[in-house]
Amino acid sequence: MIKIIRNAEVYSPKHIGKRDVMCVGGTIGFIEDKIDLEASEYIEVIDAEGKLLLPGFIACHVHLLGGGGEGGFKTRTPEITLSDLISGGVTSVVGCLGTDGVTRSMESLVAKAYGLREESISAFVYTGSYRLPLATLTGSVQKDIMMIDPIIGVGEVALSDHRSSAPTIDEFARVSADARVGGILSGKAGVVNVHLGDGKEKMDYLHYMLRNTEIPASQFLPTHANRNRSLFNEAVKYAQDGGFIDFTTSTVPQFIEEGEVRASDAYKICIEKGVATTQITFSSDGQGSLPRFDDKGKLTGLDVGKVTSLYEAVRELIVNHGMAVDEAIKPITENPARLLKLNHKGGISVGMDADLVLIDPVDFKIQDVFAGGKRMMADSKIIEYGTFEGIE
Ligand code: ZN
Repeated sequence: MIKIIRNAEVYSPKHIGKRDVMCVGGTIGFIEDKIDLEASEYIEVIDAEGKLLLPGFIACHVHLLGGGGEGGFKTRTPEITLSDLISGGVTSVVGCLGTDGVTRSMESLVAKAYGLREESISAFVYTGSYRLPLATLTGSVQKDIMMIDPIIGVGEVALSDHRSSAPTIDEFARVSADARVGGILSGKAGVVNVHLGDGKEKMDYLHYMLRNTEIPASQFLPTHANRNRSLFNEAVKYAQDGGFIDFTTSTVPQFIEEGEVRASDAYKICIEKGVATTQITFSSDGQGSLPRFDDKGKLTGLDVGKVTSLYEAVRELIVNHGMAVDEAIKPITENPARLLKLNHKGGISVGMDADLVLIDPVDFKIQDVFAGGKRMMADSKIIEYGTFEGIE
């Protein structure tokens, strides 16, 4: 099927001006000033005059099966749905387990990724949970990354958190080295997605890795780096030294009051402090629990992270901070694509996957979403395709 999106302002993420973009099947086939083809039985033409055409968003840390459970079984959060992802303009997602690696298994996580793929989303996962030694699918980190298609790295491994498995530095180094080699041998990223907690060790293990091992900074993606002021300040230094950092966009007012730095503010501060924008990604922590603890560590409440917060943070940058669109979208497009070696993602150019989002130029809200060339949302309405086709 051929689709022509006409006259949109195209951001590749760089602004390349008003163009016609032709999708052939699941791929971007042509980008021209004007493509002279009429709508027909074989060609769908979408008039996008004045709208912004962005690369589909990459959510690089989502609890696809739900997360939580920190307040007992009743606090386990629900699985993500296709509509959750589409509403947030997310066309590529990386799933992870979380605190609970007992009732949530790698088998289920990989199955969920395959399910989303059947529904046209590009879905990947990290192997393991908070805990080291890692609960893998095949019994080996390297084997998981090399042999299981959706597995692209390890995580989220919890450090500096009262919910971590209190891993030793050697355990962490070994897992990181295994992830790297598994990645090298399979052409995948082999990234270690690290959950940073509120603990006093902060990023000590990561500094150690950069100073004392041969593992490069691009092997680590520490997330929740904006969860409190002192961790954020350390993350800024880590990024200035060449590290990569990820800011969580899901939040609740209480977290902000208690010192969490809003992802949009964090990105802006980083730029002001001279951090290269290439070092920063955003993730939603979608479906993760946002547990609130009192100062004695007692759970006092729980919210569920939303994958829609990913683009909301970018929209804040554009609307509230007046940031240029091409700069604002990097943390959810080009940057995670590069770090996670998702080579056909995160940009709009010929040969890349036809993952696209159309944005209203006035309120900057998501209007249309295309995943692998398939139209998933039209004029702000999610399209229902009847997922259960073929079941007798
Ligand atoms: Zn986490």
